[in-house]
Amino acid sequence: MQMYDLPYNLPDASGHFGPYGGVFVAETLQAALQELNLEYERAKADPEFMAEFQRELKHYVGRPSPIYHAKRLSDELGGAQIYLKREDLNHTGAHKINNTIGQALLARRMGKPRIIAETGAGQHGVASATVAARYGLECVVYMGSEDIKRQAQNVYRMKLLGATVVPVDSGSKTLKDALNEAMRDWVTHVENTFYIIGTVAGPHPYPMLVRDFNSVVGKECLWQMPEMIGQQPDAVLACVGGGSNAMGIFFDYIPHQKVRLIGCEAGGEGIETGRHAASLSAGTPGILHGNRTYLIQNADGQIIDTHSVSAGLDYPGVGPEHAWLKDAGRAEYVAVNDDEALAAFHRLCRTEGIIPALESSHAVAHAMKMAPMMAKDKVLLVNLSGRGDKDMATVAERSGLQFYCRPSCQANQNL
Ligand SMILES: *Cc1c(COP(=O)(O)O)cnc(C)c1O
Repeated sequence: MQMYDLPYNLPDASGHFGPYGGVFVAETLQAALQELNLEYERAKADPEFMAEFQRELKHYVGRPSPIYHAKRLSDELGGAQIYLKREDLNHTGAHKINNTIGQALLARRMGKPRIIAETGAGQHGVASATVAARYGLECVVYMGSEDIKRQAQNVYRMKLLGATVVPVDSGSKTLKDALNEAMRDWVTHVENTFYIIGTVAGPHPYPMLVRDFNSVVGKECLWQMPEMIGQQPDAVLACVGGGSNAMGIFFDYIPHQKVRLIGCEAGGEGIETGRHAASLSAGTPGILHGNRTYLIQNADGQIIDTHSVSAGLDYPGVGPEHAWLKDAGRAEYVAVNDDEALAAFHRLCRTEGIIPALESSHAVAHAMKMAPMMAKDKVLLVNLSGRGDKDMATVAERSGLQFYCRPSCQANQNL
């Protein structure tokens, strides 16, 4: 049953996608969010702003990213044809740069010389530090001190790019503590500071504007697929952490009702073990980080620790628009385990010469599961959200392969 209306124009004015989304923040931040919303609406209607965004995507990011027919992989699987949207070829190696450029341009437009961000694995921190350098903005990144230890290379990248990385020692010393600290900073410095959020979560208008900036991905596919093979795909697949690369490729396909939209969450060690990060597949609705959405929580509403082999999917919530698309039946969500993602990672390396991010490998894994059950003229389009260079140490450790770096390096010591 179709529960949503077309044309699709969510969120509504109050930032809701059906019962999800909204603005659940302290009063001190309400005014800042309203100001951001107003300025974003103006920017969207300003041809000069949009033209600059497009120029940056073309000349700095390298868009449009190509679509690639993974023919050897498809032939081996013996069913549907798998195509990859190559977000891994973007500057900085993932889709996150699309959104951070959009938000940095907004920061500049609003006359805010300082940006802040929070980061877990460090990917969003690097993307934020990158655009801060590009536009001459001051950049402060909050990061849990545990994560700082685990992600030394990304911390160094941020510092090279001129950002200040602030260790957060409270709580579990990870992403959610960094998030609280970034919020505190924003409340205190809101007159000169822009808070760059890295996924389609947080209070309205963030889920909307992050989606809009990333929707360039799906917009390109909409003309690239017919140009390449004369038709749209039968299904579009993407991994879902917070959900920004998935919303980016899904959004323009929502009105194309024949195209299945499939989000692949982190099943970790298996849903039944409780060690996973599959909010939509195994969570329940609640409120976290300023919006109502599906969460991994216990019966008392306490957030439960999540687990995934890919740090970028290791988040207990999910963007509110995905919660709505699930309930409305427009998108499907599946859980893909660590082992399946790792197997897909290795298979893509060896059949196509492409080393995918572990996050993206979840979507590749599900396409590999679907393809053999489908006819050879069916088409699966997978969003390859990022490249896997950042995951070398993790993969080496998990698969027992030798990982070469300096003898003193942490990854070697773990082998
Ligand atoms: C951060 C990241 C993700 C997860 O974030 P989403 O908001 O769900 O897209 C996925 N892939 C890559 C390569 C990432 O860096």
